[in-house]
Amino acid sequence: MVTNQNLIAHIKSIGVLGAGQMGNGIAQVAAVSGYQITLCDISDESVKKAMKTISTSLEKLTAKNVITEELKNSALARIHTTTQINDLKNVDVFIEAATENIDLKMKIFKDVDAFIQPEAYLFSNTSSISITKLAGATKRPEKVAGMHFMNPVPLMKLVEGIRGLQTTDQTFETMKQLTEKMGKTFVPSVKDMPGFIVNRILMPMINEAIYTLHEGIADVESIDQAMKLGTNQPMGPLTLADFIGLDTCLAIMHVLHDGLGDSKYRPCPLLTKYVEAGWLGKKSGRGFYNYGI
Ligand code: NAD
Repeated sequence: MVTNQNLIAHIKSIGVLGAGQMGNGIAQVAAVSGYQITLCDISDESVKKAMKTISTSLEKLTAKNVITEELKNSALARIHTTTQINDLKNVDVFIEAATENIDLKMKIFKDVDAFIQPEAYLFSNTSSISITKLAGATKRPEKVAGMHFMNPVPLMKLVEGIRGLQTTDQTFETMKQLTEKMGKTFVPSVKDMPGFIVNRILMPMINEAIYTLHEGIADVESIDQAMKLGTNQPMGPLTLADFIGLDTCLAIMHVLHDGLGDSKYRPCPLLTKYVEAGWLGKKSGRGFYNYGI
């Protein structure tokens, strides 16, 4: 749909569910763009940590003259935090950024659909899960779409847009305009297939890097250095996996493996072991590297 019509003029408030790495970044960027934010998590600790992260990030942007002191303060004032999901009932747009788990996300979409005002759009930041399936948990599948931000949200330009089977042109165009209002570049993934564009390509590479370690072909540092210097990537795949979160990487590999049915997507056993050990990467203090938290 090509339109010059402003579809986002009525959007004033955004609810973000999940205040982890992605949720706090989305809340920050949306608040800086002028939206009233309700940031909700089941964990009080996550919400507190999120506000600290947002404050520090906005401080840095102010120090670098990317934003003014005034914008920093007004953006912070626009973010309200809660652990009560019902506080999201009046938002114009809902963005789900909870843990990458299909049963959890299905329940969230079913629950929020029942009480969020009927005109609201329901977007998911999922890395890999079927948007059509999430939409199927609601009575408004035409208003559901994938809005896939990249990590770290304040720095990364891309938002991948994913159409579910029933997503309307109006919903997709609204999401595109919202993305651009937040200063991001919108790239559409035309088909709702596991992993969409980015993780269909990126995650098998990360998984293969973990196999390379698992099979003793090279150590962690050598794998990362080889890929940085040999393929001109800004960081090696094992560092990137730590930044994404190894639980998220494993969940995405399961979605690719189950959804595409090809053994080439089987998660590396070493990745499974790390997640079982609670070594989730930077966010837990240990992954392929030690972050000494
Ligand atoms: P995270 O582990 O940092 O945060 C997840 C948050 O969800 C936690 O704070 C947790 O308490 C909260 N949560 C869990 N269940 C909840 C519920 N029922 N209600 C409210 N909050 C709940 O994970 P993340 O890296 O922020 O990932 C979140 C989503 O974003 C996932 O779907 C992931 O695939 C996607 N994503 C992640 C990245 C990345 O690089 N990490 C990039 C793009 C998209």
